[in-house]
Amino acid sequence: MDTRSDPEKLWLPADCRQVVADAERELLSDDLDRIDASLHALVDAHERHMDIESIGLNAGTNVMNPRAAAMLGRSLGNRPSLGYPGDKYEMGMEHAERIEVVAEALVKRLFKAPFAEIRVGSGALANLYSFMATCAPGDRIMAFPPEMGGHVTHHRAGAAGLYGLEIHPVPYDAARMAIDLDRLRIEAKRLKPKVITVAGSLCLFPYDVGAVRSIADEIGAWVLYDAAHMAGLIAGGRFQAPLAEGAHLMTCSTYKAFGGPPSGLVMTTEAELAERIDKIAYPGLTANFDLGKTAALAMSVLDLLAHGASYAEMCIANARALGEALAAEGLRVHGVTRRGHTESHHLALHAATFGGGQTASKHLAKANLLLCGIGLPIAEVAGDLNGIRIGTQEITRWGMRPEDMRQVARLLARVLKGNEAPDQVRPDVIQFRCDFQTLRFIRAA
Ligand SMILES: *Cc1c(COP(=O)(O)O)cnc(C)c1O
Repeated sequence: MDTRSDPEKLWLPADCRQVVADAERELLSDDLDRIDASLHALVDAHERHMDIESIGLNAGTNVMNPRAAAMLGRSLGNRPSLGYPGDKYEMGMEHAERIEVVAEALVKRLFKAPFAEIRVGSGALANLYSFMATCAPGDRIMAFPPEMGGHVTHHRAGAAGLYGLEIHPVPYDAARMAIDLDRLRIEAKRLKPKVITVAGSLCLFPYDVGAVRSIADEIGAWVLYDAAHMAGLIAGGRFQAPLAEGAHLMTCSTYKAFGGPPSGLVMTTEAELAERIDKIAYPGLTANFDLGKTAALAMSVLDLLAHGASYAEMCIANARALGEALAAEGLRVHGVTRRGHTESHHLALHAATFGGGQTASKHLAKANLLLCGIGLPIAEVAGDLNGIRIGTQEITRWGMRPEDMRQVARLLARVLKGNEAPDQVRPDVIQFRCDFQTLRFIRAA
């Protein structure tokens, strides 16, 4: 069979087209059993690589409680569910719809939120639903710029831009990694945005949500806190409590520090917004949603209700210890005078000396040290991100503690400082990782 008969996606980078072509050539044939076997082998290899032999330091991922993950494989996930509990379009939903009720109630309890929308496919869609509930196309919003962690969904290429919003940056004070509130007040009064978004993909320190709310109140704007990364810590009552501090809306992904299935949530304090978001979800955009994922979400919330506080504390303690250890290795850890490197599970390294954040990450990946680049408010690196982001949520779940961080820092430094090839370091990573194969902060059966 000619596997190259399809038209090529010429807009993809040449390297990616090559990877696709190689994989197609190697994996596709007319032998369906062979493809079936390949798929199983790939899943096995991926799990071994990510869950057993690598140190996962990517802030935007996590490992799930296997009991929650098991829910994803149950049959309720492939049954449609359309409409409200008690009035589903499909018949036979009397058990399934109660799972939905439990999940929503647990999310509200976890975040002390009056309203929660759980039928959201992802954090990106949670942001889209929030923008749709608060803005019309053509309206203005203010959002964190990329170098302060602003996410693509707040910007032109993502949900905000695709929905037709005009996007302006939230002014910031790089030295404090904080919002510049004085300039925000001036700019907000001038621009009259409908929404001011707070937070993004790198959150080293809590933001002054209360002050942003005061400014928003002066111009009648909504405050949206994007807790994609911080939801796990917020759930544990650490870092900050955006809704209590004044955010009208809080969105999040549920598979990052939260540690649940890949999905999204929107929480709000406002009945008016809750009703609009409900209608955006149904009959608007969600239509049928994955109830298997809803059951997995409920299980993940139980973990956070039971262990969220100690999990969040350990994530933060590990990040602080790792920051100290990396600095002791001579690496440039981003930080703020008198506050240190972090008050969350995130850390950032300056990447210029390693050729940039993605370049360094690809190099580290060869040693099974997994993380990604990030934008920082420092000098740019041409053609790459200028920072490396680290998150401690996954290694915390695998049982690593502050006293283990010196060794993690050593492994990272051996590769980053360039004295050793990644291949030389990888066996030591695999060896070190052997001691951490049991999940913590999850409820057992
Ligand atoms: C990851 C992320 C999102 C998107 O979440 P998905 O669940 O991946 O769609 C939104 N906002 C921020 C700040 C993020 O980091």
